[in-house]
Amino acid sequence: MSERKVHDVIIECVQGDIADQPDMDGIINAANAELRTGGGVAGAIHRAAGPGLEEECRPLAPIRPGQAVITGAHNLPNRFVIHCLGPVYGKDHPSDSLLASCYREALGLAETHGLDSVASPAISTGVFGYPMEEAAQVAFRTITEEAPGLSAVRRIRFVLFSEKDRRLHARVLNELTGQDEA
Ligand code: ADP
Repeated sequence: MSERKVHDVIIECVQGDIADQPDMDGIINAANAELRTGGGVAGAIHRAAGPGLEEECRPLAPIRPGQAVITGAHNLPNRFVIHCLGPVYGKDHPSDSLLASCYREALGLAETHGLDSVASPAISTGVFGYPMEEAAQVAFRTITEEAPGLSAVRRIRFVLFSEKDRRLHARVLNELTGQDEA
């Protein structure tokens, strides 16, 4: 595990499953526009949450790239799920500002709902094809920009599926915050 502090907000990178983060107030879903279950992150979250999550999501769909919406967490061990639709790389333009918008809107919702801690997967880096390093740069740059305005959110955890992806995120975070590699 590696962590950095930016304006009183701890940012950490761990290897693991986004649907198994019981110490976090909220988790972010790399959702599809219809807010339905699917593969990857959305599948893992909906499976763990149970059918009530899709039911709660139905009236909120569809969402557009860059948008985030918040629901309860049902059978997940968290209080909230924040669903973000990331851009499909090479199709939804401009990809970087749409991806930044996901994290900005997600943090805005976390803040207005008083979440102390939020865990996020690497949005758009799976079937949506966003190159992992570029996506990590956008994610951490956006969080660094937003951090001074956060008063509820105190911990943001990036949950990466593989150790290789965790190391990449830790390196990009260190480069952006100007600190030594963890
Ligand atoms: P998107 O459609 O936004 O690309 P995906 O769910 O396909 O979303 O993948 C996003 C990232 O999350 C990928 O890097 C993928 O390897 C990773 N991932 C897939 N399942 C999980 C999980 N259960 N926990 C954390 N990360 C996951």
